[in-house]
Formats: sequence, structure tokens, C-alpha cells
Amino acid sequence: MRFGTLDGRLVLVSGDRALDVATASGGVLPSDVRAALARWDEVRAWAATADLAGAVPVTGAQLGPPVPDPRQVFAVALNYRPHAAEAGFTAPDAPLVFTKFPSCITGPVTTVALPPGNVDWEIEVVAVIGAGGHRIPRSSAWAAVAGLTCGQDLSERLTQSQGKPAQFSLGKSFPGFGPTGPVAVTPDAFPDRDDIGFESTLLSGGTRETLQSGRTAEMIFPIDDLVARISAICPLLPGDLIFTGTPAGVGNRRTPPRFLRPGETLISRLDGVGELRQTFAAHDG
Ligand code: ZN
Repeated sequence: MRFGTLDGRLVLVSGDRALDVATASGGVLPSDVRAALARWDEVRAWAATADLAGAVPVTGAQLGPPVPDPRQVFAVALNYRPHAAEAGFTAPDAPLVFTKFPSCITGPVTTVALPPGNVDWEIEVVAVIGAGGHRIPRSSAWAAVAGLTCGQDLSERLTQSQGKPAQFSLGKSFPGFGPTGPVAVTPDAFPDRDDIGFESTLLSGGTRETLQSGRTAEMIFPIDDLVARISAICPLLPGDLIFTGTPAGVGNRRTPPRFLRPGETLISRLDGVGELRQTFAAHDG
């Protein structure tokens, strides 16, 4: 099952059509995504037999973020060994967790104003939490994940590394720095929920370059492990997001470093989900 938002309302997405859940359920189910995720079992049961006759044509650019207003956005640093190595660190013993403040979350197709500094790409798989819970054991952690979506953990590296010790979160939270979408896909809809491929590409002045590619099977802390470890401390709430880390190939570890420039377009694709498209513009002051 694929779900997302259209005009801020929860929709089921099938092919290029979207079905408004609240309308099609005769008002039994809510239009608000977080309210629906709190009753996720009920939504799933209804969706299994939903009549798609009322679905309307939709494009990726029309869809909003799968969760427009998450209350908690967790993000994980150094969750792939080659990326930890390129960043000059050994693999961590426990997940390194920071936040992207929720005001940075957007939908899949956007224009992002580049703030002053060095803006870098980080393609990531993002877990969308369903009803949530506290101290979720790993054995039932996948059941707590309502869906997976594609994300970019856009990062301004000067702000990220400012100070000693550095704090990550502000440099990763400029407006538009958390694109997500185009839909979230339930874990059961993947051939293997623990091994999903993804890739990002940069379009720049007529050239097309692959930036990063990877598979979720390469994570140091897999998605169910992250859910268990984070929920051991923070109760997870309906619609919370977990950005699960990026593989090798970020711009600031290149020689010479390479950052995003105005006019470039970053395309990020998650197998079975779809793609994000961010075009970058000069900063607006
Ligand atoms: Zn990241």
C-alpha cells in the first residue's frame, strides 16, 4: 500500500491516481495523517478493500510530504561503514542520533534556496512511524513502521560543524532541507523490506552524474534496530520520522569538495517508492 498527502489530506496512491481516505471512507477515517497513523490498523483494514473508483489523477509534484507535520524527526549519522570511513570515523557502537527540526520537512518536488555556506546532499531512507510506542522490542519493531519513503538530509556543512563539540541539527534544518516522498510504502509491499536500493543523481548544466547509491542491507543499525533503540528512550509518536543515514559519496568528502550550486537539480530515487526532485536557487538573503 502506498500513501501520501494531497492538499494536506491523507490519500492512498495507486499508479497515478490518489484516493482521499476521509471522503472515500464516508468520514469514518480522518483526513489528518497523524490522526490516521494513530489508528493505522483500522486504516490498513479499510484500505484492503477500498473502492478506487473515486481516485483522481495525481502527479508527484502535486503530492505533499507523507507526514507534513511530524512531532519528532530523528536522524542517524554514520550508519553505513563506507560513509563512516570517508568521514574519518570508525563505525559507532550505538546509533548517533540528531534531529532535523520539523519545519524543514517538505514534499517531493521543491525548489530549495541555498543559504550561504556549503550545502551537501545525503540520500536516506526515511521510516514513517505508525501508532508509535515506548520501548518497542526489536522483534515487533517492523510492525511499528507504517511506511518507508525517500528523503534527503540536506546539510549546510559550515553550520553543522560549527563549535567544539559540533552540533549537527541546525545545519540540517534550513527551510526545505528535509524533502520526503513522493509516497510512503508499507514494509510488506517491498520484495525484501531489509534490502532496498536507492540512488541519487545530479543534473548540472546538461550533465548527469550519479552521486550516491546503496542498499538498506548495508546499514550498521538496520531499521528495526533503530526503532527499538530510539524508542527505548523516546516514546515514538504517530507520524514521527527516522532518517536512517546516508551511504558514502557525500560532497564534502570529495577531493576537492563539491557542493550544490544554483540551477542544479538533485534527483533521489528509492526503489519501490519513487523519486524526489530538488532544484537549487541562489539564497534569498
Ligand atoms: Zn544524514
